[in-house]
Amino acid sequence: GIPRRPCLGPEGAISVALSHWGLECTATVLPGDRDLNFHLIGEEGAFVLKVMDACEAEIELSAAALERLAGSSGSLEVGLPLATLDAQLSCKVIALDGRSHRAWVVRWVEGVPLAHAGPRAPGLLCELGQELGKARMRLEGWVHEGLDRGLNWDLRRGLEVAWGHESQIENSRDRRLIRETLAGVGLVLESRMEGLRVGVIHGDGNDHNLLVKDTFPASGACGLLDVGDIDRSWVIAEPAIAAAYLMLDEDDPLGACVEFVAGYNQTDPIPDEELEILLDLARLRLCVSVCVAAAQRALEPDNEYLSVTTGPALRLLRFLQRADRSGFNHTLLDACGGHASSAELANETALLSRRKRALAPNLSLSYSKPLNIVRGEGRYLFDSGGAAYLDCVNNVPHVGHCHPDVVAAGAAQMGELNTNTRYLSDVRVRFAERLLSTLPDSLDVVYLVNSGSEANELAMRLARAHSGGSDWVVLGAAYHGNTAALVELSPYKFNGPGGSGGSKHVSVAALPDRYRGEWGYEEANAGELYAEDVLRCIREIKDAGKTLAGFIAESIPGCGGQVVLPNGYLAAAYDHVRSEGGVVIADEVQVGCGRVGTHWWAFETQGVTPDIVTIGKPLGNGHPVGAVVTSAAVARSFDSGMEYFNTFGGNPVSCAMAEAVLKVVEEEDLRENARITGERLLYGLRELAGRSPRLGDVRGLGLYIGIVCVTADGDADPRLAERVVEGARRRGVLLSTDGPLHDVIKIKPPIVFLPDDADHLVSVLDRAFNEAISLS
Ligand code: PMP
Repeated sequence: GIPRRPCLGPEGAISVALSHWGLECTATVLPGDRDLNFHLIGEEGAFVLKVMDACEAEIELSAAALERLAGSSGSLEVGLPLATLDAQLSCKVIALDGRSHRAWVVRWVEGVPLAHAGPRAPGLLCELGQELGKARMRLEGWVHEGLDRGLNWDLRRGLEVAWGHESQIENSRDRRLIRETLAGVGLVLESRMEGLRVGVIHGDGNDHNLLVKDTFPASGACGLLDVGDIDRSWVIAEPAIAAAYLMLDEDDPLGACVEFVAGYNQTDPIPDEELEILLDLARLRLCVSVCVAAAQRALEPDNEYLSVTTGPALRLLRFLQRADRSGFNHTLLDACGGHASSAELANETALLSRRKRALAPNLSLSYSKPLNIVRGEGRYLFDSGGAAYLDCVNNVPHVGHCHPDVVAAGAAQMGELNTNTRYLSDVRVRFAERLLSTLPDSLDVVYLVNSGSEANELAMRLARAHSGGSDWVVLGAAYHGNTAALVELSPYKFNGPGGSGGSKHVSVAALPDRYRGEWGYEEANAGELYAEDVLRCIREIKDAGKTLAGFIAESIPGCGGQVVLPNGYLAAAYDHVRSEGGVVIADEVQVGCGRVGTHWWAFETQGVTPDIVTIGKPLGNGHPVGAVVTSAAVARSFDSGMEYFNTFGGNPVSCAMAEAVLKVVEEEDLRENARITGERLLYGLRELAGRSPRLGDVRGLGLYIGIVCVTADGDADPRLAERVVEGARRRGVLLSTDGPLHDVIKIKPPIVFLPDDADHLVSVLDRAFNEAISLS
């Protein structure tokens, strides 16, 4: 039978601690299922008093196991036992109901149970796996007469135990799920059981027993609790049990499992045949947990802790029942030795922690499990294990990763000369002329800079010099750069996490988003109507007695969510701004250089010519180079006598590389490629959207496309977007999310992206959406 919890209050615990251990302390009850644990705090430090229905021999076994684990080379600390005043390990305790128990004391281990910590930092699961593997290795070959106790938790008895209690599950739907799962797992085990290794395992590496140092995000595996289930069992049960709990309530349970087991496998290598049944053993463990909880709950209806795991376990079991388990096994085998070697994985974990130590904390990493990309070629990126990813999101390597012409141009110039702009230089003038040839005639002066931010920063100075004004109109959710002045022009930042709100000199006009905004796709005059809001901002500035410097907008707002502007919008907005003496800036940092397909520059699709164009990202194919192009009139206003000097801006190496990029776009006819491939992609995506209401809007021009993810009710669904991006990554396709609500999947590949790539992307998105929708 299943013993009930001992019946003893904190008062009793305090008196036991004092009389048997000489500890003067306070006591509070800790949550637990079978044993009764108290947190003791006193002069001598913090301890745990454990009161249990166990004989001395069992406690002796636990204590010996703790000693064994404590010597491990890993970083999981365990709480060693403290002897009583008369040098015993435990003492007898009579509970309030007259029952007799045994009590013992272990040292408190610092840290927070993973279950109570915040979101998991990248790499944490892998680290926990490695640490649990090390702990298990410490138990390898350990001999103790107390082992082989026939515990309920020994998965070798799992089927028997679960079938024995399954009838006590009250809900019939849940009971059916458990029966079906047990039947399936039974079939697998029948044929696989023979060859499984048997050894000593901790047996309960669940998320309440694994401790982490930091809680937000959860990171730094630091402690292991509760050796009460230590036993001889199948060795593979160790990672399987831990994985079962780590998958609970995970957005991507299988991804989490792979990450954890891959880490485990580095320190306690698992044979392939055992990896293949890991998921089935995890399912078995979840069934045992649900069944035993149902039985215990029948005995102790008020102990809610008994079934804390039941709800999440049932949800996970339901998910795993439908999941592609053979596909998962494939991935798991791969992760544990297939494409990345253990040494490489260990390297990556180390790299991650070194990065965290050496680099700024708010430099983000993509994906729940960060990628270690080591090489790029054309439309592909390759990770350290050699796996290829189709790059659908990097617009900086505009003409393809490491395009040979661009690399050669940079290398050659680097071997020849690199200086500042104070000398005549053929390559600089050549490049400026080539850049001007792609732009309208009225834009005929080039300034060379090193980044998009620097381009916009200079554009602000030019506009203020030309207009004499001070205030700005920007679009909602816009991003224009990382400098102090540009963050103030970027609602995406100042209204986003960590932002401190708007500034007096900046007015925000409505983002002309026809999917979510005031005027929809059906409104023929949406362009003029949205531009009215620019007029409103200008009036606001005038009414406050201030003057307009200008208007800055991306020609297809990116951080706003890849929003295609309605026809006539920029024409009307520019008119309003110019009639008030303001300067108009087109931020082409993301969308310029031929990405929209039909034109070199996205503002051209709106039939307008700005006063200033800013260019960045794609211009150097990854090399940091940017440009500001304006009219002679604006340039004259800025030529006030103060020299414009920029040490690196316009250096010959940057110019040579940027010139090569423009040449490749021309020679390889990449604008036409972007147009044709983009159209095909939009067509395929719109077909997907036609089949699922969860793709709320598909919009874009050329190879700059956004998919809005929505709930069944049409609300923004950032979780869906994120799951799809993770699902695509697992299928070898790189994407990311954006938009003020983070509900937009953005697509902006190198413009060498081919029609076949578009088809592949659509089919991967189809599968990733189906999977993500079935999860939500
Ligand atoms: N403008 C826009 C529209 C951008 O998207 C960015 C960068 N994401 C910038 C400016 C700033 O460019 P950089 O990061 O090169 O400084």
